[in-house]
Amino acid sequence: MSIEGKVALVTGATRGIGKAIAINLASQGAVVIGTATSEKGADAISAYLTEVGNKGCGMVLDVADAASVDAVLKQIQADFGTIEILVNNAGITRDNILMRMKDDEWDSVLNTNLTSVYRLVKGCLRGMTKARWGRIISVSSVVASMGNAGQANYAAAKSGMEGFTRALAREVGSRNIAVNCVAPGFIDTDMTAGLADEHKQNLQSQIPMSRLGQPEEVAAVVGFLAGDGGAYVTGDTIHVNGGMYMS
Ligand code: NAD
Repeated sequence: MSIEGKVALVTGATRGIGKAIAINLASQGAVVIGTATSEKGADAISAYLTEVGNKGCGMVLDVADAASVDAVLKQIQADFGTIEILVNNAGITRDNILMRMKDDEWDSVLNTNLTSVYRLVKGCLRGMTKARWGRIISVSSVVASMGNAGQANYAAAKSGMEGFTRALAREVGSRNIAVNCVAPGFIDTDMTAGLADEHKQNLQSQIPMSRLGQPEEVAAVVGFLAGDGGAYVTGDTIHVNGGMYMS
């Protein structure tokens, strides 16, 4: 398999989409480093990776903190070598209508979902350039294309991620580094579990496939882009949303 033995970093891998991505990449033979925001979460990641026979592990990382990003990238380089697959999955929502949005709600969503991508990519690019091989995949959202009332911060961050991806793809394509986004629709994870039933039913009624997506269905597309399938795909956003939004 083409990514056998390659070092892959997946942020936010304790649960949901990130965990499914980590397991998918592990099943393709990559050495997976999954990140968590606590030691307990990192241990849980190490445990599920060990269970599937992977040589990778969990590490603690706050993607919104520059020092934490630097420290983890250094640690991975020392322990495992060059990161050739980077999956920017960690993300948060802090919903509020704009009239009431607090600076903290804006800043935290932009830092966690967008500035983190800039930092992590910058930290990995030198190694990928030297290796003349790289895959950068960022988990965007259908909200980047459709917008969503109460999520101006999240929509701005995810649209920014998609623009960043197109610009970077043009910068690094000649180095055999592919840069893409995967944009999930409405996926059955902790992020959506807290939505009111009425809101969930309303969202579901907008999906031609009439159901929520599963984390593994998003992970399959990320896994495709990380592997042979992604060799000549760059600067793109692949939608995984059951038809909720059609570009
Ligand atoms: P989730 O809340 O289950 O997972 C988010 C992960 O990000 C968690 O592991 C969390 O610990 C991590 N994280 C949060 N803040 C962090 C920080 N500062 N540093 C490091 N890690 C941090 O949600 P999910 O649904 O699995 O979401 C994964 C990604 O998919 C997110 O980027 C989200 O925006 C995106 N997404 C989800 C949906 C959906 O319907 N669930 C739809 C579109 C996009």
